[in-house]
Amino acid sequence: MANVAHLHSADWVVPVTAPPIKDGAVAVESGKIVAVAPLEALENRYPGADVICYEGASLTPALINAHIHLELSHLGVLSATAHQGDFIQWVSRLVSLRAQLGASGPEVEQAAAEICLRQYADGVSVLADIGNTNVALDLLGVFPGRLLAFREYLGMTEASLAKNKERLVLEEDTRLCSGHAPYSSHPALLAALKKRAHKLGHIFPIHTAEHLAELEMLRHGRGPMVEFIHERSGENLVFQAAIGPEEGSIHYLYRLGLLDAQTLCIHGIHVSDEEICIMAGTGTKVCLCPGSNRFLGVGTAPVQHYLKHGMLPALGTDSLASNPKLSLWREMALLAGEANAPAASVLFAMATMGGAAALGLDEHLGSLEAGKEADILVVPLEKPATSADELMCMLVNRQSSTLPPVRRINQ
Ligand SMILES: [Zn+2]
Repeated sequence: MANVAHLHSADWVVPVTAPPIKDGAVAVESGKIVAVAPLEALENRYPGADVICYEGASLTPALINAHIHLELSHLGVLSATAHQGDFIQWVSRLVSLRAQLGASGPEVEQAAAEICLRQYADGVSVLADIGNTNVALDLLGVFPGRLLAFREYLGMTEASLAKNKERLVLEEDTRLCSGHAPYSSHPALLAALKKRAHKLGHIFPIHTAEHLAELEMLRHGRGPMVEFIHERSGENLVFQAAIGPEEGSIHYLYRLGLLDAQTLCIHGIHVSDEEICIMAGTGTKVCLCPGSNRFLGVGTAPVQHYLKHGMLPALGTDSLASNPKLSLWREMALLAGEANAPAASVLFAMATMGGAAALGLDEHLGSLEAGKEADILVVPLEKPATSADELMCMLVNRQSSTLPPVRRINQ
């Protein structure tokens, strides 16, 4: 039997992969979870262990934010007031404000550092970041948890494809690279990026089906996104229909050979049931960003359809440029407030196990189970919970309360 150093106990323990345990405890040794059970049972099993009690709290796994752009943290003014206009108008505002304020430099770095530290203080242990500068790379030593910093590649012209391919082969193997979106990254570039990600054994995140302009471009080779690309590139690029008139972004990515268990589709709003079948069949993951989607008015992801097909989505905040408050607690609460919302326990699983699985970290994180890392939050409760359901509802709705912040256990 393991020589357990500590038993951490609280009013409730939320393993995520098993029902909440009243008066539960987590046995921890050398930073690893050894057992999760009622405190009484673990005291009998490990008589010499130190017992640390957290009263009026629950213990949960740390949260996982599967989509953020730290380098856009200085552009919070874009989400400070309600967005007027469509997605393309928002992208135009983003591009011009970034050109005006700069994409790098001390102010950009400071804003990004503040956001990543705030994420950690809010209970997030893993951030999957996407950016086209080195801002997030420079935060690897600042963020106390795991920061996956992806460099995004984009460009639709043949000239940009050649340049990007040259650049890609020069990247260090340690640099995580990914594509931006079906409407902004050349299909041959996406294929090259996915091939590289596969070779290096890392995941491949890509914005997918976030807005209808993407669908119009893929289906018909025209629409506001094509006009925006013409304006930006100064070239009159001709796009052919890349999919059938009833098909969507997932069909497109599937035919490019990009979908497998290491691909993470971000947003996944405008997808049909058939497309979700393709995702489930290929093991493709999805990350939902309800706060950003709501701010931009781009639609609502079909959460229940994903769940019906056996997928557990991850959650992401996206950036401060499209979401006024970067809090995974708020993302859960937003989904909880939607019509036909999943159960609170499912929403909490999305913010933990869903993220861990999407990022390929579910062997180590995402739940409180023997063998996993003891990355455990102490979450204060507003009042005693009389049932597991009540507890989970309090957890997913805690962002609106004035409770003390979460803490992490001292191992
Ligand atoms: Zn994004």
